[in-house]
Amino acid sequence: MKAVVADPVGGPENLQYIDIEKPQPGPGEALVKLEASGVNFIDVYFRAGLYKAPETPVKLGNEGAGIIEAIGPGANFKVGQRVAYPMSRGSYAEFASVPAASLVRLPDYVSFEEGAAVMLQGMTAHYLTRSTFPLQPGQTCLVHAAAGGAGLLIVQMAKIAGATVIGTASTQEKALLAKEHGADHVILYTEADFVDQTRRITGNKGVDVVYDSVGSSTFHKSLDCLRPRGMMVTFGQSSGPIGQIDPLVLSQKGSLFLTRPSVPNHISERAELDWRTSEIFKWIEEGRLKLNIYKIYELRDAASAHRDLEARRTTGKLLLKP
Ligand code: NDP
Repeated sequence: MKAVVADPVGGPENLQYIDIEKPQPGPGEALVKLEASGVNFIDVYFRAGLYKAPETPVKLGNEGAGIIEAIGPGANFKVGQRVAYPMSRGSYAEFASVPAASLVRLPDYVSFEEGAAVMLQGMTAHYLTRSTFPLQPGQTCLVHAAAGGAGLLIVQMAKIAGATVIGTASTQEKALLAKEHGADHVILYTEADFVDQTRRITGNKGVDVVYDSVGSSTFHKSLDCLRPRGMMVTFGQSSGPIGQIDPLVLSQKGSLFLTRPSVPNHISERAELDWRTSEIFKWIEEGRLKLNIYKIYELRDAASAHRDLEARRTTGKLLLKP
């Protein structure tokens, strides 16, 4: 079968479109014929070697949707079922062997493209707004890169929770898109000081929570946007790692809370995965959650998708078509 691997790890030019052996489902796994694969920033980190993979060449892709073609012993699924999954590496391929514990059945009204678009960033937006800091009506959040893949979903789920949403974005077009998805205010953080703007919008009170996927260029200033005892959620680093933090800073800036969460700790129980996906699918069915697919690339063009994502050219979701 065809697959895209990083060989060796490095820049997008190291992505190779090659023939590899079709996987066989092991115990507790199902073989999925992929119809769509999600592109996420985590794929860039595995490609570049920032996140280490045990195998060589490095398999890429952590999200997919397709049809079950074969079942391993003990996997509670059936051949022919439509499924999608987050956080199982190797989805930049025609087939993937996936732990049944990560698979969810796709309702008829969710296409393969939508399924592959919503599993990883959708789980992320859900746990951030429902578990890490469960937003309530009357609360205000600051969402960086609000027009990005995770960003547009966080904005919408925060609005469903009844919160006021302040977003940041680098261009007018991205700001408009974030507003179209429900953001109440959007700050052009490449032009204006987002601390001043956030303070102005909140009447100098500060926000209850910051959801920060940007990292290096936003982390420290984001602490100044929070109300006393507010929560700083650093969950990504699209501008680079934030480095060392002195906990005393959290005291000086208002007894702040700081967390650095990730998806696997929020879907490790089947009941939790089912809760998050069922809410998300319901919101899609009701028309309350819109999936913004920026572009569908051919699998062989995965390097173009990575270049576009890293160059800040994209909004919403990027997919690969195996
Ligand atoms: P995005 O679609 O958000 O793309 C990245 C966006 O970040 C850009 O479009 C850009 O928006 C903004 N950005 C700001 N500075 C830079 C820069 N120097 N280079 C590139 N982009 C920049 O990507 P994802 O939604 O896939 O992921 C965003 C981050 O969140 C990643 O670090 C990812 O690993 C992380 N993440 C973490 C998860 C977790 O559970 N911890 C789960 C999912 C994602 P703008 O132009 O508006 O500034």
